[in-house]
Amino acid sequence: EKRTPVLDGQGINTVLIRLAREIIQRHTNLEPLVIIGVHTRGVHLARRLADTIAEINGRAIPTGDIDITLYRDDWTKIGYSPVVQSTQIGFPIDDKTVILVDDVLFTGRTTRAALDALTDFGRPAKVELAVLVDREGMRELPIQADYVGMFVKTDKAEMVNVLLSETDGEDAVVVNTP
Ligand code: 5GP
Ligand code: MG
Repeated sequence: EKRTPVLDGQGINTVLIRLAREIIQRHTNLEPLVIIGVHTRGVHLARRLADTIAEINGRAIPTGDIDITLYRDDWTKIGYSPVVQSTQIGFPIDDKTVILVDDVLFTGRTTRAALDALTDFGRPAKVELAVLVDREGMRELPIQADYVGMFVKTDKAEMVNVLLSETDGEDAVVVNTP
């Protein structure tokens, strides 16, 4: 197995600051904004993004999370189905601009499931998608991210390992080639 580092801790930090700035630029302070992370690592990234935005302009943005599990025999196969386990969103999302956050965008199926879950939960004015890594060209649905930390070219058998200090004790993004 080959491991190719693509971002170190400082790189992730720099990327998050850029994404926070892009989010700030696109949304006025009058627009009600909420940030919702998708299960483990998207949730940590969502909190970091909200913290970074607060550091930059003092704006406090509520964060929530959605837990989605991918059911599949082999997650590199086409056709696995994401199932929403739970949502922890302690505020109404009606008429809000929701920024969904995930660590990696691959086929788009998880985002699709997240959009369904949001629809069940309320009626946002708008939903945008922010991801740390976009596995370029791998989409199986017409879903794209509005904010991309980094595009990474992968084939199906490869895996982008996103390590975050909250869960993994360090910050790094590494491409694993079997
Ligand atoms: P999708 O549903 O777009 O195929 O895959 C996105 C979901 O699966 C995300 O929640 C993401 O965490 C996970 N995922 C897909 N591919 C990768 C990958 O290469 N690395 C990591 N860490 N997660 C991935
Ligand atoms: Mg995930």
